[in-house]
Amino acid sequence: MTYPEIFVATCDLSGQVRGRGAPSEAYESVLRSGLGWVPANLGLTAFNEIAPKSAFGSTGDLRLKPDKFTEITVPPDGDTPGMKLFLADQTNPDGSDWGCCPRTFLRKALGDFTDATGLRVVASFEHEFVLRGLQDSAPFSLRRHRDAEPFGTDLIRLLSVCGLAPENWLPEYGRDQFEITVEPSDALVAADRAVLLRELVRDLALRRGLEASFAPLQDPDGTGTGVHVHISLVDEQGRPVLFDESKPGRLAEIGARFSSGILRHARALTAWTAPSPTSFLRLAPHRWSVGGIFLAERNREALLRICPTSSMGGSSPERQFNLEYRAADATANPWLTLAVLIRAGLAGINGGEEYPLPIVFSEDCKEADLQDVPELPTSLEDALMALEDDHVVSSWFDPDLLTTHLAVKRHEGELLASLTDAERVQRVASVY
Ligand code: GLU
Ligand code: MG
Repeated sequence: MTYPEIFVATCDLSGQVRGRGAPSEAYESVLRSGLGWVPANLGLTAFNEIAPKSAFGSTGDLRLKPDKFTEITVPPDGDTPGMKLFLADQTNPDGSDWGCCPRTFLRKALGDFTDATGLRVVASFEHEFVLRGLQDSAPFSLRRHRDAEPFGTDLIRLLSVCGLAPENWLPEYGRDQFEITVEPSDALVAADRAVLLRELVRDLALRRGLEASFAPLQDPDGTGTGVHVHISLVDEQGRPVLFDESKPGRLAEIGARFSSGILRHARALTAWTAPSPTSFLRLAPHRWSVGGIFLAERNREALLRICPTSSMGGSSPERQFNLEYRAADATANPWLTLAVLIRAGLAGINGGEEYPLPIVFSEDCKEADLQDVPELPTSLEDALMALEDDHVVSSWFDPDLLTTHLAVKRHEGELLASLTDAERVQRVASVY
């Protein structure tokens, strides 16, 4: 075999990207019939041990079926050869859908959403990460931006070449922290880009003598590192439908109903969107991550934030207007993260009386106004119990997928149970 010029990848329940390589000559056959894969791989924890209570054992086979629209060509870099990289659906050996594939789960959620509403979901994942190996520097500073060169310029170029449509690249507030945003796109593409972006960032950092970490925390008392998921809805003609000047927060009724589903199921959703043993240390008040389960205009402590729009240069607000879900991090699988938000939003849209229109807290609301908002889970186990208790959310999943997710996440918790918070944060950071 020549070097694995092709790599076909999936992303697992802990957000780890795994897959198989093949020589370039196999390009056509890999596209046609994929590469072998094993159901038990879904039972792997982030720490690379298989969870004993996973639904999958030593038998069974799957295919990793590349989606040809995901093909990117990663250019060579110094001595490191380039490669063709694909994202795959995990299928049964005959090519039919496998009920536990995270990417298939998102495709179905999006299909169901459009069938029920006639609307399409547009999304973008905003990533923060920490770049280790630089001089200490001030938040948001030009110094930090320059210290990260040539990594920064190379990263923007790499993401552009790979079709990830980078938008902003900035030094952030936390120690050694940066942020990268990409343009909004169709929801499946947005989640695919999130899977790839983390890998491309980490890979490039290593080649520049640095180390990139997307872990939710580097230090229990330090600044959190989040993934914020921006969502908007458009009609068949691509016209945005979330904006309505006459409504609270300028959020159209369809958006309010969509939000009500996310708010109602938020505790269970976090078991998918922030699923590591240290994710809930970040999701606490006064950290500008999420201070509680509420919807608010331009408030960085809201679970769902109505983002600002700008009228400069005559830009219209409709297209910019979007909802930002802030309780995600990069220990989650992007396909599952977006899928559970869409499913919850759809439950809100379809839901009737059980999903009352939510309060839209205004930008100037005081802490006292938020006193009664529900709290997020305070630990991974708390979130997993909320998931088991929420029969609406649990019902979205193939029972084997649900069992395996609970098993993987509980085993991760057990593996780190004897550590202090500081050690746990370090251990999680070492694999993200
Ligand atoms: N670092 C914060 C988080 O943990 C987000 C800060 C911001 O709004 O960019 O989510
Ligand atoms: Mg940020």
